[in-house]
Amino acid sequence: MSLDIAWVLRWMHLSQEAIAENRVELIDLDRQIGDGDHGENMDRGFTAVGKALEGAEFDTIAAVLKQVAKTLMSTVGGAAGPLYGTAFLRAAKACGEELEAQDVADMMAASVGGIQARGKATTGEKTMVDAWAPARDAAQKAADSGASAEETLRAAAAAAREGAEATKPMKATKGRASYLGERSIGHLDPGAVSSAILLEQAVEAIDG
Ligand code: ADP
Ligand code: MG
Repeated sequence: MSLDIAWVLRWMHLSQEAIAENRVELIDLDRQIGDGDHGENMDRGFTAVGKALEGAEFDTIAAVLKQVAKTLMSTVGGAAGPLYGTAFLRAAKACGEELEAQDVADMMAASVGGIQARGKATTGEKTMVDAWAPARDAAQKAADSGASAEETLRAAAAAAREGAEATKPMKATKGRASYLGERSIGHLDPGAVSSAILLEQAVEAIDG
């Protein structure tokens, strides 16, 4: 199975389903250290993505990702909307026709670059960067060691999940959760968790 336009469309379809399934969990996580809207925001965004992609014709992976970026920017809202929008937009600019391992690594690097350009967070601040930065590093390591595109994506998704889990003991210093200071410790960051969910769907989409 190659990482082509059919894969990216499947990825977005699975993301819509997975975000809907995890809507309540994401709401609960955001209730603990934020304002409780992350699950709602993401579900609204990916429902709109599903509608935007349905029946439309796309020639390239980049065209799909650009549409996704545009849709997320205009529907998700909150802090996460512009951050995810920028991530998908930068990913679109980084990808070719059929993704090789290095293309996957480049897409991850471009996404996290966009998130950081927009949100100014670095690792350890208890944000989605703590999922994406390890995903980027794992992808580059996999690509360097001769892994396939699929293996590279798997490595990235696994690292994103681990990174999301690792936000629990962190103290938030960016975003709404930072208002809680020490009280943000002991909770998972909702945006890091939604990021892990999305990257896991990219892997699911390979498996068909
Ligand atoms: P809001 O915080 O406006 O209610 P959401 O609840 O939709 O927006 O999204 C919150 C998530 O956004 C956080 O869990 C975090 O992962 C992410 N986030 C917030 N601020 C930043 C930032 N400056 N950089 C990266 N990610 C951020
Ligand atoms: Mg929120």
